Amino acid sequence: VPANPDIPPLPKWTVSGVGGVANATRANATFVMLARNSDVHGAVQSIRSIEDRFNREYGYPYVFLNEEPWTDEFKKRISVLTNAPVEFGIIPHDWWFQPDWIDEERATEGRKKMEEQGIIYAGSVSYRNMCRFNSGFFFKHELLTKYRWYWRIEPDVMFHCTLNFDPFVYMEEQKKTYAFTIALYEWSATIPSLWDTVKNFMKEFPQYVAPGNAMGFLSDNDGQDFNMCHFWSNFEIADMDFWRGEVYSAFFDFLDKTGNFYYERWGDAPVHSMAAAIFLPKEKIHFFNEIGYEHPPNMHCPKEDDVWRKGMCGCDQGNTHDYGPYSCQAQWDRIFR
Ligand code: GDP
Ligand code: MN
Repeated sequence: VPANPDIPPLPKWTVSGVGGVANATRANATFVMLARNSDVHGAVQSIRSIEDRFNREYGYPYVFLNEEPWTDEFKKRISVLTNAPVEFGIIPHDWWFQPDWIDEERATEGRKKMEEQGIIYAGSVSYRNMCRFNSGFFFKHELLTKYRWYWRIEPDVMFHCTLNFDPFVYMEEQKKTYAFTIALYEWSATIPSLWDTVKNFMKEFPQYVAPGNAMGFLSDNDGQDFNMCHFWSNFEIADMDFWRGEVYSAFFDFLDKTGNFYYERWGDAPVHSMAAAIFLPKEKIHFFNEIGYEHPPNMHCPKEDDVWRKGMCGCDQGNTHDYGPYSCQAQWDRIFR
């Protein structure tokens, strides 16, 4: 990757106890995983996988977040897996739990209505807490404020290819803001009023809409309707300064005050995706083809033989999500044609 002459060179960090790239150029970055103590098995698998395929050589730190105190067992099982710094944080109460101003009767009604439609997590309040926290708060956590870049990881995910480069440094040098590996369709019943709310926001704050944005990924008719395409946010590499900035803060507050993270079941995936696709020029969003990644039931595997071989990928190229029936990769590709 050629260095971008417009930005100063990155600092060089030395991390003791890690492999070949100590002294290499590094980004101010961390992994972040939200998990429950009961997720320990899946969390161990995920960290084993990312260490094996990337971080053993790089030593980027980890931040684990939970609304409950971490058990000694969880901390022990995770810390043993890496030489990199690991921190375990607690989420402040008001960033997680349903706010008092939510009308609980209406929220209960909304959950019931959604359950009748057989929607996944329809009746779950904790899932809604999680989606709202990931949408509006994680990047404000005191353990994350010292970092600019994060890579979100969940329990039970797999990284299938060895990375011969540093994705954080790539993001910084190429002036990217948000990166994904899987694009797919959202369940429309979880977000009945989200698009209208977003359109109202754009009307009220037209100055925030980026020229040359990725609206063509979200909509097939110039923004009139949402086509349900979004980036699957269980994988994200992104610049937290974007989430922390004026535009996204205004956007999240505008969405949050509708209460529809609870009355409906707005996901952080469509919320992040819409923000990235509307408030950024499309070139600032990056598809990491080289990163073979699986969050069951979906997997991205590089389909080009040279990329797959170079990464010594353990995934089946024939099963990649990219151009399957549920993929939005074609909607992504078309905006660059
Ligand atoms: P899915 O990927 O949409 O099926 O949802 P997950 O169950 O994987 O949850 C998304 C992320 O939030 C994962 O990292 C979970 O570990 C985490 N998560 C979900 N619910 C909770 C919760 O109630 N408490 C905590 N601390 N983490 C949660
Ligand atoms: Mn998950």
